[in-house]
Amino acid sequence: MVDILLTKIEFLKGVGPKRAELLNKELGIFTFQDMLDYFPFRYVDRSKIHKVNQIFDDNVYYQLLGTISNMKTYGETRISRLTATFTDETGSIELVWFKGFKWIKNKFLPGKKYLLFGKANVFNNKFTFTHPDIEEYNPEDRVIGESLQGVYNTTDKLRNAGLGSKQIAKLIKTLVLQSWEMIPENLPSSLIFQDKLMNRKTAYYKIHLPSNSNDIQLASYRLKYEEHFFFQLRLLLNKKNRQRNTKSVIFNNVGDYFNDFYKNNLPFPLTDAQKRVIKEIRSDLKTGFQMNRLLQGDVGSGKTIVALMVMLLALDNGFQAALMAPTEILANQHYDTIKRLLGEMKVSVALLTGSTKQKDRKHILPALENGDVQIIIGTHAIIEDNVRFKNLGICIVDEQHRFGVAQRARFWEKTHYPPHTLVMTATPIPRTLAMTQYGDLDVSKIDELPPGRKAVKTTHVFQEQRLNVLSFMRKQIAEGRQIYVVYPLIKESEKMDLINLQEGYESLLRDFPEPHYRICVVHGQMSAEDKDFEMQRFVKNQAHIMVATTVIEVGVNVPNASVMIIENANRFGLSQLHQLRGRVGRGADQSYCILVTDHKITAEGKKRMETMVRTNDGFEIAEADLQLRGPGETQGTRQSGMIEMKIGDFLKDEPIIRHTRKMVGLLLDQDPSLSKPEHQSTKDYFNNNFASDFDWGRIG
Ligand code: ADP
Ligand code: MG
Repeated sequence: MVDILLTKIEFLKGVGPKRAELLNKELGIFTFQDMLDYFPFRYVDRSKIHKVNQIFDDNVYYQLLGTISNMKTYGETRISRLTATFTDETGSIELVWFKGFKWIKNKFLPGKKYLLFGKANVFNNKFTFTHPDIEEYNPEDRVIGESLQGVYNTTDKLRNAGLGSKQIAKLIKTLVLQSWEMIPENLPSSLIFQDKLMNRKTAYYKIHLPSNSNDIQLASYRLKYEEHFFFQLRLLLNKKNRQRNTKSVIFNNVGDYFNDFYKNNLPFPLTDAQKRVIKEIRSDLKTGFQMNRLLQGDVGSGKTIVALMVMLLALDNGFQAALMAPTEILANQHYDTIKRLLGEMKVSVALLTGSTKQKDRKHILPALENGDVQIIIGTHAIIEDNVRFKNLGICIVDEQHRFGVAQRARFWEKTHYPPHTLVMTATPIPRTLAMTQYGDLDVSKIDELPPGRKAVKTTHVFQEQRLNVLSFMRKQIAEGRQIYVVYPLIKESEKMDLINLQEGYESLLRDFPEPHYRICVVHGQMSAEDKDFEMQRFVKNQAHIMVATTVIEVGVNVPNASVMIIENANRFGLSQLHQLRGRVGRGADQSYCILVTDHKITAEGKKRMETMVRTNDGFEIAEADLQLRGPGETQGTRQSGMIEMKIGDFLKDEPIIRHTRKMVGLLLDQDPSLSKPEHQSTKDYFNNNFASDFDWGRIG
């Protein structure tokens, strides 16, 4: 059967080759189907024609029928404004334009009747229409009973080619009327019945040509449902496919490394969440297929020890393990922590970063290659070409948002088979993203903090309250606490930011003079050696205050530090603020986070401050972040290739996403390769639209 919906748009009456090319380029419309998928972004009620003397409300849309006269331009050297009078039998009203003068001046002929649609606004105590929609009145154009009209987005280029919103509406109407009955169903009829969905062809008809708002609601629900349904189908099929097909090494044994550590070296009882997560990971490692797991756990939830124990499992099975961190500071810290945790145990651990000395490299690289080094900890340096392993069994990546997918994949080239991968992140994934962007990964969550943690108290202060902040700092230092003062550092204004930091540092030196007080500084422009030296002063409690840029954002662990002061806090994103705040509140003492800003901050900045003050819950913060910034901006999403939806909305459709995910899961349980006759149309649609090369044989 020839699918009429795949007909080129050029062949739609009223389009032709020239306009078709523009529709291709401007709107990505190539076929009848693409055009049907071009949905209105709003609707206007055109059922009623008002009279001029019935205009009573400011800011309300009206439709009028009348003539246009009395064009006037204003402005001395350049025209800045154009006005005209619109008249019907009950009176007249002023129209105003601020651009497009030439075109407007020649467009309207005296005596001709026009249909005007626009918002009435009060100016100088008179109602005025600014840039109204105006079309020539043609009584035959108007279809009885069709009261709501779709309004479609268009572009300047299209408008110039005679394809304004209204012309697009007209084309789509032609198309819908001639083709809607040929639009095939693609959802199983059991679902349509059970979820009371509008059928597909009716939905396409009604979304473009609704009779009332109920039509719009039912039609758009059906179309959103369909879009999310197929999105989830693709995710879940890919997940199954991958789980069953990427062979990897098997970790069957729990041996001496793991057991000895558990018996003798565990410094504290694991939380239930940590235990559960280790169990989940262990069961993945036994399957013979590659693990691809995301380990989510708020800052301070104790991911490091989980990472170590998982690495010991690799060792128990004769494999090497790697732990990769985004910064040198963090890699160093992981190295120290893990050495300390291992204590007397005979495990060979090495550290490899950009500043590892050549003479040390000369030892480490061959030792990795012959298997003498069992655990390697480092930065990107460990995925460089010259680094080779004997038998890497698992790689753990800390703080996934600093690493791209491509970098993670580089581990795969280092072995004969892809090693297991565990990605650890402190940024909780909002529900919708967990079901979409990460919908094909396995996720483990540490949803419990170690016992005895006190929630960090957060306040937002303005610059002029600095004296209060200083006296608070003195008090905390007198009680033996340590303090972070963090400055933003963003690439675009790196110089300015460093000046800020330098000035802040100098002014702190005046307020906290040596030798009574000691202050250390860490920023990205310092050599790794200097950075480490300064960090160590703070870690060893030889400095009271650490002034830093965001280099300390990730992972630094100094339990005695109890105050986090964030300067120009409005310049940080929510997830960064949350990460920074997570640096304190790690010891037994009450901790504080102070967000310092100017009075002049954006509404969004204000929201961020409010969110931070309101909650410590990383999950809630991630949700707020997503709402404020949208999914495109949220960490990780750009890398994973955000899919653009036609009518669905990843942010707003959470209930539909959740529901369709469940329905797809049930469907695949029941008929994994969609081979039952009642699922044929769903399978066909999937194959045609998403994955013509999908290998159904591997599922099932
Ligand atoms: P994150 O998840 O942010 O990487 P860490 O692994 O750095 O957290 O752990 C934060 C702190 O909590 C560390 O000082 C660690 O020793 C401690 N910790 C981890 N697990 C527990 C536990 N089960 N009980 C008590 N303290 C723990
Ligand atoms: Mg960590």
